[in-house]
Formats: sequence, structure tokens, C-alpha cells
Amino acid sequence: MSEAFHAAPRIGIGWDRHRMQAGRPCVLGGVRLECPVGPAGHSDGDVLLHALADALLGAAGLDDLGTLFPDTDPRYAGAASTELLHAVLERVAAAGLRPACVDVVVVCDRPRLAPARARIRGQLAGWLRLPLERVNLKGKTSEGAATVEAVEAMAVAALVPL
Ligand code: MG
Repeated sequence: MSEAFHAAPRIGIGWDRHRMQAGRPCVLGGVRLECPVGPAGHSDGDVLLHALADALLGAAGLDDLGTLFPDTDPRYAGAASTELLHAVLERVAAAGLRPACVDVVVVCDRPRLAPARARIRGQLAGWLRLPLERVNLKGKTSEGAATVEAVEAMAVAALVPL
């Protein structure tokens, strides 16, 4: 295939949703937020990083997060999702690719994302080695449509050759 085909950005999508549970730590994008509820799960339940990691893996044509780091594996019990993201970035680099831009939407009724948005965005930009304008993050609420309290994230990532 042509050089232009190999140079073209590769796009991936990721999605994750965890039920909220009282008394669980609330970590989003690697940042601990003040909230009486937090995502339930084997890991820290960081849906933002899980969705982002799956978007990166999808764009690279690699296996998804659940296959690479199964939550039934005791090695990943209580795992910090920042470690998973870094492991994913290593695999992306090993595939000869690097992030070009990412965009993430987080949906939850609490906590409010706005006060932490700049901090999360800056941290992601550092990890992905991208300028801030290539890392976007939006916070939305369920607008009263949630049947179970949950936190959900959707992410899109574009990769280009290293
Ligand atoms: Mg998850």
C-alpha cells in the first residue's frame, strides 16, 4: 500500500461505564475528586482512563484493555489506571505509533468535572506528550435520565507514525 496510506492518522474509539458506589474513592483521569460516591470496580474504576486507553489500543489495532489487563487477574486488582495507561502507551509506541490528538467526554451527575478539568487535561497532555489544544475533555451530566447512578466516559484518539 502507498506511503500516504501508512502516514494517515489512525482513529480509535473507547467507552466505559462504572456504577457509582458510596464510600468508594472517586478517581477520574488519575485525579482524586471529592465526592461521597466513586466508581465500583476491581481497579480504581477510572472510566476516563479506561475509555482513553481503549481508544488508543483501538487506533493501534491492538487488543482491548479488558483482554490485555483482565480484571479477573489478581495482578490488576486495585490497579491504578495511570499504570494501565502507561502500559498502553508503551504498546502504542512499540507498534510504531504516537498520539496525535484525543478527545474525551465524561458523563456523571456527581462529582462536577469543571473544577478539575484543567488539571486532568494538563496531566493527560503530559502523559501523551501532546500540547494542551490536542487533548480535550468535556464534562456532561445525565440530565436526570440516569436509572442507576454511574459514571461513563467516551474517548476518541488519533495516532500517527512515530
Ligand atoms: Mg473500566
